Parts: sequence; C-alpha cells; structure tokens
Amino acid sequence: MNPAKSGGRPARVSSAPAKEHDGPFAKNEQVTLDVIGLTHDGEGVGRADGFTLFVQGALPGEQVNARVMKMKKQYGYARLEKLLTESPDRLNPPCDIYKECGGCQLQHFDYEAQLAWKRQHVIDNLTRIGKLTVRENEGDRLGSADFGVQAERQGIVVHPTIGMDDPWRYRNKAAVPIGAAGEGGELVAGFYARGTHRIIDMDDCLIQHEHNDEVLRVVKRVAKELRIQPYDEQTGQGVLRHVMARTGVVTGEIMVVLVTNGKRLPRQPEWIEALRAGLPGLKSIVQNVNTRDTNVIFGDETRTLWGSDVIYDELDGIRFAISARSFYQVNPAQTVALYGKAVEYAALTGNENVIDAYCGIGTISLFLARKAGHVYGVEIVPEAIEDAKRNAALNGIDNATFEAGPAEVVIPRWRKEGAKADVIVVDPPRKGCDPALLETILQMEPERVVYVSCNPSTLARDLRVLEDGGYRTVEVTPVDMFPWTVHVESVAVLVLD
Ligand code: SAH
Repeated sequence: MNPAKSGGRPARVSSAPAKEHDGPFAKNEQVTLDVIGLTHDGEGVGRADGFTLFVQGALPGEQVNARVMKMKKQYGYARLEKLLTESPDRLNPPCDIYKECGGCQLQHFDYEAQLAWKRQHVIDNLTRIGKLTVRENEGDRLGSADFGVQAERQGIVVHPTIGMDDPWRYRNKAAVPIGAAGEGGELVAGFYARGTHRIIDMDDCLIQHEHNDEVLRVVKRVAKELRIQPYDEQTGQGVLRHVMARTGVVTGEIMVVLVTNGKRLPRQPEWIEALRAGLPGLKSIVQNVNTRDTNVIFGDETRTLWGSDVIYDELDGIRFAISARSFYQVNPAQTVALYGKAVEYAALTGNENVIDAYCGIGTISLFLARKAGHVYGVEIVPEAIEDAKRNAALNGIDNATFEAGPAEVVIPRWRKEGAKADVIVVDPPRKGCDPALLETILQMEPERVVYVSCNPSTLARDLRVLEDGGYRTVEVTPVDMFPWTVHVESVAVLVLD
C-alpha cells in the first residue's frame, strides 16, 4: 500500500509530523492499535490500518494507545502509553523490577493464558516452519499472531502445556553479571536491563530459589567488604565479572562460582571464610577465569577454591553430581515431568538399545536406562561426560555408556561400526540438530525418535527433515520449564511409518 494514497486513517490519534520512511506512520506519532497476538519475544503484535507495530507489554485482545518509536517498511515498534481495553488475562506483575529487568517477559500475563500461548506458539512453528498438520483442539482459548493457519482434523496431537502448580522460585541456578553503578561506582549484581548492558541491581528474584538469592546478597556484601573491584566492560579493568549460584534443590547443597578477570582472586582466604560463614549449605567454591572481551560468561580455566568439585542433586530418586561447567536443567520439578514424558514416548520394554544424543551429565540417559536394555549417551563437553559416568556409577546403573564428542560425528561412526538403535533421543541446544545427525538417524531407522527441544522453530525445522525421511510425528507435549518467560520447551515423539 502506498501510504500517500491511503486516505483517511481512523486509527490515528494525533496528526503526524513529517515522515522519514515509507511506512504509514511517523516516529513519535500516537496510534491506536488492536493487539492480535504475541511475538516469540513476548511483545504485543499491534495492528492499525493493516500495518504491524510491536508493543512491549501489550496483550492479545487489548486495544492500546502507543507512541511510534521506530518505523521500517513492513513493520515498526511503538511504546505502550494507554490501555483502552484491558485483557482479562492482564496481571499486575509482582516483581518490583519487572519493567526494567530483561529476565522475565510475561509477568503481566495470567499463568494459564501463558501456558495456552506457549502451546499455540509450538503449533504455529510446527505448521508454519515445519509445514506439519496439527490436529485441531477446541480446548485452546488463545489465538496467535497468525490467524491464517487452519489446523485440520488429522495430524499431530499437541497436548496442553504441562505447567507448574506453584510457578515461582523454580530456578536452581543464577548467573548474573557484576558491575559498578552510579557516581560512586557501587558494586551491583543483577540482570541486564532489557536490550542494554546496564546492570539492574537485584536482591530478590521471584523465580530464583531462595538459596541463590542469598548467594548473590552474600557475594555482593563480601565483595564490598573486601573492596573487590567490579569488572568494567568498557575498559576491561576490574576483578569480579560474574557470579553463578547453583543449588541442589533436593539436597540443599550450594555451589558458588566466581568468574574473575585474571587468575588472581584478591583476598582469597577471606573470601572463603566469609562465604562459608554466610552460606550454611555451601559445599563448593569454584573460580573461573575469563579475561576475554566477550559476553560469554565463562572462560576456559576452572579451579576449585574450597570444598567439592561438584554438588549433588536428585531427580526422581536418581542422584546426580553436577560440576561448575556442566549443563543441568534449571527447573528440577518440571525436568522430572519433561524426562517422564521422554521416557513414556520412548515406550521401552527392557530390551531396547537407546541412543541419547546431547546427553549432558547423563540425566535423560539414566532415566531411560531404568527401562532399557542399554543406553549410549553422547555429549560434546568432556567434563559433562565425566559427570555422566560418575552418575551412572553413583546410582549402580551399569547399562549406560558415555562418549564425549560431537553427536554428528560420534553417532555416524557408531553406525559405521555396526551399532543398532531401537530408539534415539535427542535434546539439542537452541540451534537444533546438526543435519549430519538427522541424516544418520534416517539411515539407522530406529523405531522411535524422541525429540526434546528448547526451541520450537528448530524443532519444527528438524521434524520436517525426519518426516521427509519417512518418520511421522505423533504427539508433542510442551512443558513449562521457564514460567513468566517466553521460553518454551517441548518433547515430540516420531515413529517410523
Ligand atoms: N539432555 C541433557 C542436556 C541438554 S542441553 C539434559 O537434559 O540435561 C544440550 C547439550 O548438548 C549440552 O550439554 C551441550 O553441551 C550439548 N551439545 C551441544 N552441541 C553438541 C554437539 N554437537 N554434540 C553433542 N552435544 C552437544
């Protein structure tokens, strides 16, 4: 549409200053928007005159006044100014720093509505990216930004999202940057403000386990008492860059990791004494050295300053040793639900050969091993594989073996060596499975593939590859691992058709 010829615009509230772009609105113009969905980032999808403006904080079903911030040819961004009609799903966010902090995106959205939205988000990805057919489900009450997709009566069953009864204080891990704030350069620790590198000081995070909040408070206090310089991103000066706290929720054990800009932690003995005195459940103090100019939290060098190299936790009666650098799911209650679904979808009878690709510290592998003939886990981080082996032994599980390496290299080699698999489970990072791994899965022809995914778009992409290779996706269950955030975890099962 040529905006110059578009005639009257009923959505316009104030008259427009001169335009600097091809879109129908001008920067700083106030517009009235109908919000028809949420983006994958949790922004409201606002529509006016057939044009899309994204509005942080606006909810589906609302009509809002918003101020145009940025215009592009096809879409723009606007700031919420006034709610004209309010969604019945709108909540008053309980967290004091919600508006500034970038950690949660959906605290203004009713929890049940979030669960419905997450399911719809998975469906949208499956249909749009995966070109898959999803079975219609009348129980779904929330629309998405894409009303064009009409699900048919046949196809994949996408179950309601498995949510939490009490969706707060669920995180077992906090990893936050340290910096200086204000004129006095006072040491602060918290999350980056949305879209910036400004640190919002945080003492109490409602999605964190209390132990982790306590670690952050104690580390800040001790750092100030010992006059430790916070790291400055601009100059690369200062000592303390990040702090990570991890709690074994079942065992109560705590690990503190201090990430330093250099090998030396000034006043190390005082640090150890003060942390031990301040944190009764403390089992491990670890230092990680990161001197690089990067956003990545950890550097390559890790050493234990005090206590054990690992902390322990338990999931459904299986004990796990977790070292500082190993991946471990952050929401243990929902992890049990997720792994339970993965095991159910694997439909094991006790004789099967199972491959667990991207196995981390062997968590899913050991859940599977209780029901399988043998489980073979593969994972790229060598320390995680050491943990996995230790975890199998710790639980007296002798039908699980582990190998370190890229799944897309190790599993093709296993196949060449004659390995057979009845079930292959994959749980890749956000970027999804490597094409070489998908190709190998198709060649190995396991009866079932169970796909655990933290990113619905790469899940959909990879399911399409498996479907084209002869598999049929039967069911998908989203599991809410990250309440109040836009993240969506899901588990899918495919069978050989
Ligand atoms: N299944 C585990 C870990 C899932 S997270 C759990 O639930 O705890 C994804 C894991 O994939 C991480 O441990 C990461 O280190 C690993 N990874 C990333 N790229 C990989 C690759 N190419 N091959 C094997 N593992 C990889």
